[in-house]
Amino acid sequence: MAGKEVIKMPPTVHIRKEAFISLIFSVVDIFKRESFGFVLGYRPDKRRNYFLVTEFVPFANRNEKRYAEATWTRRTEKRFHRFKELISQLRLKYLGDFHSHPEFGGMICSPGLSDHDKAGMIKNGYDLEFIIGISSRRRGRAVWESMPDGSIRGSYDQFNIEVHVYRLVYQKEDKNPEPERLQIVAPEAIKTLNRMHLRQ
Ligand SMILES: [Zn+2]
Repeated sequence: MAGKEVIKMPPTVHIRKEAFISLIFSVVDIFKRESFGFVLGYRPDKRRNYFLVTEFVPFANRNEKRYAEATWTRRTEKRFHRFKELISQLRLKYLGDFHSHPEFGGMICSPGLSDHDKAGMIKNGYDLEFIIGISSRRRGRAVWESMPDGSIRGSYDQFNIEVHVYRLVYQKEDKNPEPERLQIVAPEAIKTLNRMHLRQ
């Protein structure tokens, strides 16, 4: 095997059902403001080429001046650092952040990774960044499904929601990594959300 380069598929991102559903709730709950929090789970290892997300932990306390670029109050920042220390003693890993791109003044916001988002990922050394696009929906419901671009979409209450996840890929010697969208795998969450549609 020496010297042989193994071509590896990009890892997928598996999300536990409970985590996915709490993520949906946290973005819907403060629709119009940016929802924000951190992501816990496990990194890929030799046996499995996927991240496993077990928790999305929303943060409520922050400044609300900007809709797209949440900034923290100093107290939150301090508390967060303590929390990170605590997490570092668990087997779970702090994989990155999630935040929503809500519609703004009736305009639907792109669920792409902005330059600001990318800079944050680089600065913090995150594995993953989840971006959740949310916009209002006039009527009807959209089935929850996996999309060919790796995202998962559907509707909840009067909202259209799409969940995307990105990692940064560094070429050799490259200081400017490119975002890459990864495939989200969450069949149990999709099933549960679609079952809820049927009951309404
Ligand atoms: Zn963003």
